[in-house]
Amino acid sequence: MKNCNLCPNACRADRTARAGVCGVTDKIRIAKYYPHMYEEPVISGTKGSGTIFFCGCSLQCVFCQNYEVSRAKRGKEITPKELADIFRDLEERGVHNINLVTATHYADRVVEALDIYRPALPVLWNTHGYETEETLDMLENYVDIWLPDMKFCDPAVAARYCRRENYFEYAAKAVARMCEKEPVFENGLMKQGTIVRHLVLPQNLDNTMKILDWFAPLKDKAYLSLLSQYTPFGKIGNYPELQRRLTVREYKKAVDYALSLGIENLFVQDMRSSGEEYIPAWDY
Ligand code: SF4
Repeated sequence: MKNCNLCPNACRADRTARAGVCGVTDKIRIAKYYPHMYEEPVISGTKGSGTIFFCGCSLQCVFCQNYEVSRAKRGKEITPKELADIFRDLEERGVHNINLVTATHYADRVVEALDIYRPALPVLWNTHGYETEETLDMLENYVDIWLPDMKFCDPAVAARYCRRENYFEYAAKAVARMCEKEPVFENGLMKQGTIVRHLVLPQNLDNTMKILDWFAPLKDKAYLSLLSQYTPFGKIGNYPELQRRLTVREYKKAVDYALSLGIENLFVQDMRSSGEEYIPAWDY
């Protein structure tokens, strides 16, 4: 944390004194935690996924659906011990798993908390996919389910939406490594494995098709979740193509192409599950 390189930004911030590019210092800041019912059915089940939203983000996409949180504008500061208490609290509330959302920039703090209290539940790493080998090495023995995004294949698209041309270079390696975890299910719930998520963006089907081509060789190892929930949000004033929701036609093309590649371990989303009503109120 004095010379941080937890993510590929490797900005080397002394986070004991100031925030890094991810927008946060070494103090854990969270926006909300609760049993979340809107993840994939094998994750949310009937009792919900014990989801903890961390503030700050090392990627900061312009269209971020959790904009207030990723820009660290909200939230409460907690210690690793308090984070461990949240794991326990969620577990006592009967959730199916502990779901750590965008915690890359706190990876070492999360490990500290899991060393204090390790719930008897699967731990999920819910990430934008922009990860280093070293951070994954640190998490390897703590994470049961990887839930990475695969956002952009094309460096120009990544540069446009998150100013990181090298997104795919890091994410492809990280996600392929995550897909090595063999899927295990019990009573319809995932206990171990990987679900790769891709948010289909309006007017960006070329990017989606390239990602599907990339995922096809991994299709028997991991699951793919094609998300249709994009809602215009964030700092998108200069991005006319992002100022509408996805059309049924665009989403159908993406799903049809995935199926044509033989990707059958596939979660698809009801087009009605987009809209601001699905974005949590950041009231913690
Ligand atoms: S986690 Fe934050 S401080 Fe650390 S390298 Fe990444 S952006 Fe910089």
